Amino acid sequence: MSNTPNTPPESGTQTSFGFRAVPETERQGLVNQVFSSVASRYDLMNDLMSGGLHRLWKSEFVAMIGASRGESPFKLLDVAGGTGDIAIRYAENSGPNATAVLADISPEMLAEGRSKVAARGLSSRIRLTQGNAEALPFPDRTFDAYTIAFGIRNVTHIDAALREAHRVLKIGGRFLCLEFSECQVPLLDRLYDFHSFEVIPRLGKLTTGDSESYRYLVESIRRFPNQEKFAAMIREAGFERVSVRNLTGGIAAIHSGWKL
Ligand code: SAM
Repeated sequence: MSNTPNTPPESGTQTSFGFRAVPETERQGLVNQVFSSVASRYDLMNDLMSGGLHRLWKSEFVAMIGASRGESPFKLLDVAGGTGDIAIRYAENSGPNATAVLADISPEMLAEGRSKVAARGLSSRIRLTQGNAEALPFPDRTFDAYTIAFGIRNVTHIDAALREAHRVLKIGGRFLCLEFSECQVPLLDRLYDFHSFEVIPRLGKLTTGDSESYRYLVESIRRFPNQEKFAAMIREAGFERVSVRNLTGGIAAIHSGWKL
């Protein structure tokens, strides 16, 4: 992709925050500032930036969780669940004994999520809690499914988050990740670059007064491993039958894996 710098990420204690190299120990704090700053306008910005496309992607993603519409119990963990889009769609499309725990590191995003969940009358089925994807506050083999949507690229140690996903899933549980990925359609990739680097930061400035946060969001997408590399990381964490499904030419992708 154009606009991606050729320099590799810094080694040692440095890591990438968008296209910037920062000390590894400071990265999560910087990510938290981004989400604290955008939380109240996060849903609006998602619609504006993607022209509503994120709603279709999320619906496809939730359909893959496979919770029953009947009475059988099913426990979902939605990590980096933010304002609750995944957990809410899941609860609204599954049976009464399908419950979810939404874990997110940002108190501001959780507060937005809590209001949305309450407004939809889903507080008894969705519990929201603060937690870091790299060190989840749950016992081993607790959940039937683990989801993370547009969250994992914000995590500093992706390998640690994947290991945690594997740990907290029951045997036979499914890992599902929805994330921006590598656009694989010529021309669409150029349009997408223009939209990402020229339109999104300006939209961010207009609606939230904060173009920097949106620049980070776009840059972090380009830093994230492509479909193949991320699938290899998921296998490395112990998942089996790993597969990838591209959405909109690979602008986003759903990775799936099973704990067998
Ligand atoms: N999943 C939601 C969605 O699809 O709309 C929110 C995605 S939002 C782009 C990314 C979320 O990841 C933010 O709510 C942020 O607070 C959260 N996050 C970032 N680092 C995290 C970490 N280490 N552990 C848990 N959540 C994290």
